Amino acid sequence: MPIQLIYRSRALCSFDSKDLMHFASRLEGRNRLLEISGLLLFDGRYFLQLLEGEEVVIDNLYKKIGRDSRHTDLVLLLRDPIPHTHFCNFQMSAMDVRELQGLSGRNAWSLLGSSLGIAWNRDHRSERIIEAFARGRWRDPTSAVAWSIDGETEVETYPSEPVWIGTKPLADNIPVNFAFQPIVHAKERRITSVEALLRGPNGESPYAVLKALQGNQLYEYDLTSKGSAIALASALHIDCVLSVNLLPMSLVFNEGAVDYLLQECDKNKWPRERFLVEITEEEAITHFDEFIVAVRKLRAAGIQVAIDDFGAGHAGLSLLADFQPDKLKIDKRIIQGVCANGARQAIVRSVVEFCFCLGITVVAEGVEAVEDWRWLQAAGIRRFQGYLFARASLNSVTAVTWPQ
Ligand code: C2E
Ligand code: MN
Ligand code: MN
Repeated sequence: MPIQLIYRSRALCSFDSKDLMHFASRLEGRNRLLEISGLLLFDGRYFLQLLEGEEVVIDNLYKKIGRDSRHTDLVLLLRDPIPHTHFCNFQMSAMDVRELQGLSGRNAWSLLGSSLGIAWNRDHRSERIIEAFARGRWRDPTSAVAWSIDGETEVETYPSEPVWIGTKPLADNIPVNFAFQPIVHAKERRITSVEALLRGPNGESPYAVLKALQGNQLYEYDLTSKGSAIALASALHIDCVLSVNLLPMSLVFNEGAVDYLLQECDKNKWPRERFLVEITEEEAITHFDEFIVAVRKLRAAGIQVAIDDFGAGHAGLSLLADFQPDKLKIDKRIIQGVCANGARQAIVRSVVEFCFCLGITVVAEGVEAVEDWRWLQAAGIRRFQGYLFARASLNSVTAVTWPQ
């Protein structure tokens, strides 16, 4: 199984751009033999290296890297399974990020991409970690290189009519419906993902539906209903990421759960990269070992993972110390009223900073008040879900209203 590993370290030798290129090309020869690819960044003081290859090979190499006397203060930033490698030909592209200083946002971004040979899609944590390093913000927020990479304004919504795909033979033939709610990038005015929320035959809440099920039936229903969510999303012509909610146990107790999800994606021509699984903070903590097993399977299949309702549980920070998701959704109990509450503001600021450094996308949930949205926007949050923008609607996606 291939994995991706990113670490940061402090240089003990002095390096200029030329030394760096020379160094990287020497690494390349060795990496070719080991079938390792990746990239190397240097900012004058710190290195950031990304390595991709077979798990055992990468882990061995990382041990060796730890003994290298040319650097110190090794910090592991990411070590996750991946479905396939991103950097081909066993190359080790390198860049001195000091070359980006003084460039405008778009220019800096494209120079970084072309120097490293990356076609940015910013869907992967590794790219966001590279971005954080290149901007220098991980070290000192005030010294961050001020380049903006927000895209063009693009107004895009799905004012769709409901689609009814009928009863599917699930547990006890319970008909399955989903309400869909957009998650938006408010500045760019676009829908970045749509969350599928389970509903009963008459639009009942997810709690009411799930409460009626017990034991294996619950987990089976939770999983198989996602086949309907994908089919509905496909029928609604949704063309962004589809988020679904799952209990971690639904991924553990159903044999072949991840294969089932992949098969449903393929059946509905839904690309795996546009499929995301949300797991609540509370469940991730209470079933941590099972949760980690499930997440490794999802990641190895190229499916993204989000932590839902962050801040609603009671061990959120210790969870993040051991596991970093692709996306983190801050719970509405922290978001609502943030514009006038010092404690909530301090919490949100620290979560944003943490997520930025580790390449985790932040979503603010339950945004209802325009004042809260303004504060969150100023604090650096770009993605929002809440009644202010759009409500969840049964078997359809309603148009988004964009606050001024
Ligand atoms: P969630 O995943 O945090 O979903 C967001 C919930 O917040 C949804 O409630 C949504 O309608 C509501 N919401 C969205 N914007 C706002 C807002 O501005 N203000 C307020 N007050 N609420 C807002 P919903 O649909 O009742 O879902 C409740 C929970 O049920 C979900 O919370 C999720 O944890 C769970 N759930 C939903 N579908 C499934 C599923 O298929 N499987 C499992 N295991 N759980 C599910
Ligand atoms: Mn959710
Ligand atoms: Mn939530």
